[in-house]
Amino acid sequence: MPETANRTNLLGLNPAALEAFVVGLGEKPFRARQLLTWIYKRRVGDFAAMSDLGKEFRARLASVAEVRVPEIASEHASADGTRKWLLKAGEFAGRAQAIETVFIPEPGRGTLCISSQVGCALDCSFCATGAQGFNRNLETAEIVGQVWLASRALGTGALGERAITNVVLMGMGEPLANYKNVLPALELFMDDRGFDLSRRRVTLSTSGLVPQLYRLAEDTNVALAVSLHAPNDALRDQLVPINKRHPIKELLAACWHYLEAQNGRSITFEYVMLDGINDQPEHARELARLLVGHDAKVNLIPFNPFPGTAYRRSATETIGRFRDYLNTHGVTATVRRTRGDDIDAACGQLAGQVQDRTTVRLGSKTMTVAVHA
Ligand code: SAH
Ligand code: SF4
Repeated sequence: MPETANRTNLLGLNPAALEAFVVGLGEKPFRARQLLTWIYKRRVGDFAAMSDLGKEFRARLASVAEVRVPEIASEHASADGTRKWLLKAGEFAGRAQAIETVFIPEPGRGTLCISSQVGCALDCSFCATGAQGFNRNLETAEIVGQVWLASRALGTGALGERAITNVVLMGMGEPLANYKNVLPALELFMDDRGFDLSRRRVTLSTSGLVPQLYRLAEDTNVALAVSLHAPNDALRDQLVPINKRHPIKELLAACWHYLEAQNGRSITFEYVMLDGINDQPEHARELARLLVGHDAKVNLIPFNPFPGTAYRRSATETIGRFRDYLNTHGVTATVRRTRGDDIDAACGQLAGQVQDRTTVRLGSKTMTVAVHA
């Protein structure tokens, strides 16, 4: 379908907004449910094919609406089943932009790691996305479109089981810095008329925008992952600069508030393992003291290096000792698995900006797999 500026992209509307849109066209509200079924359950975007809608309504829809997903710039498949899509995200200062979406299959689970912004403004010192700077927020339709595209590409298994069982906002960007567009996408992921994923299977990862965390507790109940990465403010100020505005104490208060509002669901704290920086025994001790007694888990992420970074990944034994210390001191800790080095992708470390139409700058050669309970 040719793209027009004045057509409404239905992927950008949550169920309530879609109903209002349909009513605005003079149709009965239940038509919205039919549309949602076609779009999200059958993954059909062509109105002409929506056979239980009246011909006139279909023609009207075709003139005022569309189901438009980002265009695929390139697609990569790993020998281990990991898939990655580089999606076009318009142009900025005359240069083509792209975002990345990664599918990570594991036994009994398929996780889609999606992006929320083109680049990121928060400039964490160990992050490839931060290093490329911030271009713009993704539209709701571009966020939802990543899941739509991937679920259409991946289809369902022989028994009708879905390829995508989990969605994590751990790709490019800080989702809470794009709150307005991310929230309707979360609703569509969890609504039974949309992608119908349980709230435990949709995870938002944030570096800690405290005011938005309080808003999130009011507005939704997704699983929360928080990028802590350091157990004290002096160190976190260096690694995650937003800490200077929202220090650890305030961040944790917002986290415990979120837990309370969400009926005691546990929060995952992400902690990138940087050799000699934040991986020492005293850091493990400090971290345990911060989290013990709370419904919190720690996910240790072996650092994925990228061109130009001065950091190195902690040794495997160091990571193991750090994990063991936490586990024996009352804080559940796991280590993310790294795999998929035959396609350049790293969930949480993506730099999909297309520098020109033929050369693509990607993250590291390794892939970090999110492990979510
Ligand atoms: N902006 C959000 C979500 C995207 S980043 C956030 O920061 O939480 C997803 C995860 O990948 C975060 O925990 C982030 O800190 C981590 N990450 C970023 N760069 C990384 C790197 N080079 N190696 C390993 N993990 C990294
Ligand atoms: Fe942005 Fe997250 Fe990267 Fe920090 S780690 S720069 S918040 S994407």
